[in-house]
Amino acid sequence: MSRVKRLYELQEVDLAIKKEKKAISAIEAQLQDSHEVIEARAKLEQEEKRLSETRKTEKQLEWDIEELTVKIDDVNKQLFGGSVKNPKDLASLNEECEHFKQRRTAMEDGLLELMTDLEQRQGDFDLAKSQYEQIQSEWLENNGHLVEDKTRFEGEIAGLTGKREQMASQLGSADLAAYEKLLLRVGSQPVGKVEQGMCKGCRINLPTNTIKNARPGLELIYCPNCGRILYVS
Ligand SMILES: [Zn+2]
Repeated sequence: MSRVKRLYELQEVDLAIKKEKKAISAIEAQLQDSHEVIEARAKLEQEEKRLSETRKTEKQLEWDIEELTVKIDDVNKQLFGGSVKNPKDLASLNEECEHFKQRRTAMEDGLLELMTDLEQRQGDFDLAKSQYEQIQSEWLENNGHLVEDKTRFEGEIAGLTGKREQMASQLGSADLAAYEKLLLRVGSQPVGKVEQGMCKGCRINLPTNTIKNARPGLELIYCPNCGRILYVS
């Protein structure tokens, strides 16, 4: 294979890698556009937090009521157990008992209110959950193939990159340097294929002599207009 043909084939691989990278960028742009999923997930997390906080408050209140019931039972035992006989002490115990009972009633009212809240929170959470699941499954339905495509492109790029490294190692270092330098200058395709007497890089008609010199591909002949390495197939 001629020197220039090797460079041209390296360019073909570079172009293929570039194309796949571009396709991946396009996919990533589309995949990022999933703010609906992100929003729905944030909403679900918020509702989950509110629900668990309300449940915690409910539990705490239930424990407080239980504790108070134990205290009331205790005072009742003293009141009716016969161990306390002094009327003043009995009156004081009775007062204490009433006080606990009032507190317990207030707490029970609070608990009832909280249970209504809890029902509401549970409803909000269930709704947020089903909305999230629906949005997520719609998103996957629309974008699942994109994720698959991206993985496939990434695999192809890895294969092409390996191939490029192998090809580059077989090139003369001067040729590779000339290619890389030109690549930086012209952006892409440092090798200009000659088609119908024209340099494909700049679409300018080439002198017959230049084409003749470029044809064997044994030395690097440059386009007099754009400076690309000329390749005659
Ligand atoms: Zn040119």
